[in-house]
Amino acid sequence: MPIYEYRCTSCSHEFSHRHHRYSEPAPPCPECGAAEPRKLLSTFSASVKASKPSCSPEQCPSAHSCPHGKCCGAH
Ligand SMILES: [Zn+2]
Repeated sequence: MPIYEYRCTSCSHEFSHRHHRYSEPAPPCPECGAAEPRKLLSTFSASVKASKPSCSPEQCPSAHSCPHGKCCGAH
């Protein structure tokens, strides 16, 4: 499930919301109830990155073609 970070455009309150569907609309601000908070960078992609801090040599055949940056022991 994707978790999105939002910042309220009305009161600047930041909160995260776990979406059950990708098409789910943005939730209202829990502080002031304003609709359409601004979406920030998703923690979902950040947590994916954090859970995969390195790649295996199989995924990373050479130091010059590592698709993940300098994240594997081959560099
Ligand atoms: Zn608000």
